[in-house]
Amino acid sequence: MEPEIQIQGLSKTFGKSSRNDKALKNIDLSIESGEMVALIGPSGSGKSTLLRHLAGLSCGDSDSGEIRVLGQSVQCNGRLCSDARKIRARIGYIFQQFNLVGRMKVMTNVLTGTLGRVPGWRGCLGLFNAEERALALKCLNRVGMDAWANHRASCLSGGQQQRVAIARTLTQKAEVILADEPIASLDPESARRVMEILSDINSVDGRTVVVTLHQVDYAREFCRRAVALKAGEVVFDGPSEELTPSLLASIY
Ligand code: ADP
Ligand code: MG
Repeated sequence: MEPEIQIQGLSKTFGKSSRNDKALKNIDLSIESGEMVALIGPSGSGKSTLLRHLAGLSCGDSDSGEIRVLGQSVQCNGRLCSDARKIRARIGYIFQQFNLVGRMKVMTNVLTGTLGRVPGWRGCLGLFNAEERALALKCLNRVGMDAWANHRASCLSGGQQQRVAIARTLTQKAEVILADEPIASLDPESARRVMEILSDINSVDGRTVVVTLHQVDYAREFCRRAVALKAGEVVFDGPSEELTPSLLASIY
């Protein structure tokens, strides 16, 4: 069976950079369903670029290569984007800065996760039905944020906002969760809580999780597998427990 995530020969150059200044250089990577993978590497090594490509957020933007998620290409071929759009609805994305709508209630933010499934006009008007609301509340409960459902998102701390963002991907019923530096802006206690929730979603629900992390300690603790990028190339791919200090010194 095809791996859940499959990248072959992915290269990406921004602007008119010279050939040896590629953000991604001929990346090959396969991730199986149910894995929790840490993507590590120094700042500027290409982690976010890779994750954005995986989510189809850099549609039509790669120099070369193929990216398949859940058995389908996430890239658009010309103007025929409908298949790519469908597959993107099954991919959840968590941002470092949470990307909630601050003036909207927590509940409404979480309900937007269902927009890939409810008819557009209903979602646009905020007309979510009882079933969707019950699901959103259940997902908020899962991340310990149900008591905040009727508060504005802007009232929350960073850690709380990130938990709401995770609840949003849960209402989306995302099969693959991509998280780009989800704990980089958080205090250690909130960071741990967020990692525990991601880990729980991976182990209990069997969701595939790919998470970029600055802190290698968290990668070792929560992710069995680590992939390290350096200057756009994969320089390590293996069990995170093999990230020894000497290896890390050669990566960073
Ligand atoms: P990381 O997430 O590992 O810090 P990025 O993927 O953000 O790395 O960046 C990889 C490289 O691509 C860096 O050299 C960065 O400057 C460059 N880059 C990223 N995004 C852009 C962009 N939108 N325009 C131009 N260069 C970019
Ligand atoms: Mg980044």
